[in-house]
Amino acid sequence: MAKRTPVATPVYRVALVSGANRGIGFEVARQLSERGMTVLLGARDLDKGLHAARKLAGAAGEVIAVQLDVTHQDEVDALARWIEVTYGRLDVLVNNAGGHYDHDAEASTPDLASARDALDTNLFGAWRLSSATLPLMRKHGYGRIVNISSGCATASDGSNCVAYRTSKAALNAYTRTLASELEGSGIAVNAVCPGWVATELGGPGGRPVERGAAGIVWAASLPVPAPTGRFFRDGEIIPW
Ligand code: NAP
Repeated sequence: MAKRTPVATPVYRVALVSGANRGIGFEVARQLSERGMTVLLGARDLDKGLHAARKLAGAAGEVIAVQLDVTHQDEVDALARWIEVTYGRLDVLVNNAGGHYDHDAEASTPDLASARDALDTNLFGAWRLSSATLPLMRKHGYGRIVNISSGCATASDGSNCVAYRTSKAALNAYTRTLASELEGSGIAVNAVCPGWVATELGGPGGRPVERGAAGIVWAASLPVPAPTGRFFRDGEIIPW
């Protein structure tokens, strides 16, 4: 009798990307969907999200636009409930939504209202969304959380962008702490710097969005056993 070769069942994965209606987030959503994942494309303006998702129709995985302002706890909670009811799982979370690049700000003459806004999106946005969706990852003992940080978070650099820089350094600290807490759970938490990327935030001159997104998709797809609590750029550990 001929021996049968066992066929591996493809793993069904659901991914959520915040701030995915444009820029790096959109490209991450595209690349994840090309890998066959079902991608929830987060947008704080749902019309922009729907428009972006339409551009990705026909990818290997389904792309669904979802309403998500990461500074609104009620929207974060409602989305987590909807994912639970609709899919019963979340495998990948890319905390990409970010901004408040305050290149003109000075640390000695602070605009604390704008610094608070930066922290609310860049740090607490990721914190809120991770906390709300963690139960969905714990359920299956698998998760990849990728926090989009910046080279600005590193101690070796520090001449401007005080609020942005502080928010990204805090995001790295949060990444490290959550990763330690989740050690052994199957959920890996890492921070990724996409490099300088030509987007609305990055401006012209940066590298193509495909390259910036590739290192994020790599961290979102790390095989078991996955490194956790690290800060990566292009798949390489970088100091901070
Ligand atoms: P971008 O083109 O300005 O896109 C930012 C995205 O985040 C947009 O979709 C924006 O939505 C969304 N967003 C902002 N605040 C939000 C909120 N409160 N809730 C939900 N979505 C929100 O920027 P990008 O260059 O793609 O940056 C993406 C990430 O990479 C950011 O975290 C950024 O700090 C990081 N990064 C970028 C660079 C670079 O060179 N570009 C370098 C290092 C790190 P709207 O369209 O509604 O505004």
